[in-house]
Amino acid sequence: MNAVNGRMTWGKDEAGRGKLPVWADLFNDLMIDFWCGEMLWNTSMAEFSAYRVGGTAEAVIFPLGIQELSLLVQGLRKLDVPWLVLGRGTNILVADEGLRGVVIILGRDFCSMERNAQPDGSVLARFKGGCSMAKVVKWCTEQGLSGLEFAAGIPGSVGGATAMNSGAWGGQIGDVIYSVMIMDSKGTLQSKERKDIHFGYRSWNEPEEMIAVEIVFRLNKGDKAVIAEKCRKNVGLRKKQQPTNVISCGSFFKNPLPDKPAGRLIEESGLKGFKIGNVMVSDKHANFIVKTGEATAAEIVGLMRHIQNRVWRHSGIHLDPEVRLLGFADL
Ligand SMILES: Cc1cc2nc3c(=O)[nH]c(=O)nc-3n(C[C@H](O)[C@H](O)[C@H](O)COP(=O)(O)OP(=O)(O)OC[C@H]3O[C@@H](n4cnc5c(N)ncnc54)[C@H](O)[C@@H]3O)c2cc1C
Repeated sequence: MNAVNGRMTWGKDEAGRGKLPVWADLFNDLMIDFWCGEMLWNTSMAEFSAYRVGGTAEAVIFPLGIQELSLLVQGLRKLDVPWLVLGRGTNILVADEGLRGVVIILGRDFCSMERNAQPDGSVLARFKGGCSMAKVVKWCTEQGLSGLEFAAGIPGSVGGATAMNSGAWGGQIGDVIYSVMIMDSKGTLQSKERKDIHFGYRSWNEPEEMIAVEIVFRLNKGDKAVIAEKCRKNVGLRKKQQPTNVISCGSFFKNPLPDKPAGRLIEESGLKGFKIGNVMVSDKHANFIVKTGEATAAEIVGLMRHIQNRVWRHSGIHLDPEVRLLGFADL
């Protein structure tokens, strides 16, 4: 890897600068005094997305903490550089043409966990937005904290789960949230209580440039063995009903109506197991679009459109993607 297409720190190695975005030098000047995190120039988003497809982002940046994130967001605002935040990329599909601007990733270093007992017997558990949900669920189980068992087996970060209001088996993140520390596009922090955040179906109502930096759940004390058993059961159900060890983003479409899950509509339209090239409607669960070999984002979108058309013709119902499509000019 060289400095342009690989990992580098601010201010180091000027080689190949011609390939960098026009704002790179100004950005470098703004950041050099405080930055101690990592960044990548011109980097394939395939590395940061569960589908392992997508073109390059002009820059991918990994802030280490809240203060650094705030200064970064302020710098980007000053230079009018577009940006978006990601967690583990388990619910995104990035266009082959790539992304302009900066992708901010709250990664493993953006993680801490703590608990505070409350007078009413409940426990407030606080996590930084970059913690993985797997770690959060494991930690809660070890601590004897009940409430997040439904999330056992959901990949991704706790920040991503909050923005997506992720859920399974009748539970969803919004139901256990106590408050969220949100950073806006000016780099300013505000703490929002649960009642001030509207959680919808696989979404929250905050504007795109809002970052969930710290999430507090209200959980209950419980028996560790019982919590562990519930998690095991949910992971077992997942393995039984959904394709595992395949390349996917989980459920591709939102369920349009409670009694009409997307998977059933796709199955009824005759597409279960349908394949175009290396992109396939899972033969285990029809709401999973899986990649079975080398494929492009355009090919995944091609199958998505085919499914939408077929289901529309068969049932008159439009399927909306749950997976976030990033950088597609025509979608
Ligand atoms: C095998 C598999 C199974 C899955 N099963 C489920 C399931 O059962 N239920 C379910 O709901 N989902 C499921 N998913 C989808 C996905 O795991 C969840 O939506 C997850 O919560 C996304 O987290 P992430 O960190 O990967 O988010 P990303 O994919 O990185 O981002 C998703 C969206 O959230 C935004 N975002 C990310 N982090 C933040 C942040 N800190 N602040 C503000 N916005 C942010 C991004 O901009 C983007 O719009 C599954 C995915 C896979 C691959």
